[in-house]
Amino acid sequence: MSYNDLINIDEFWQKKEEFKEERWDVAFYCKDCRKIVQTNRPNPNWYKFVCNECWWSNIAIWTFEWLKSNYKIK
Ligand SMILES: [Zn+2]
Repeated sequence: MSYNDLINIDEFWQKKEEFKEERWDVAFYCKDCRKIVQTNRPNPNWYKFVCNECWWSNIAIWTFEWLKSNYKIK
């Protein structure tokens, strides 16, 4: 492996870093509570989130700004 390959791999990981879930400004919107809520993820292998307030999984996950404009959150 050449030095250039190492540079490329390093850049790749830096870019990949940007897509990490923790680094998104994501929020959870409960369509039943009609507000931004905290959620539980009962099984880490499923992309299923449960509302901490009503315990239903009618959850939309996206950026806070998007949820705000799409669901007209005040
Ligand atoms: Zn809810």
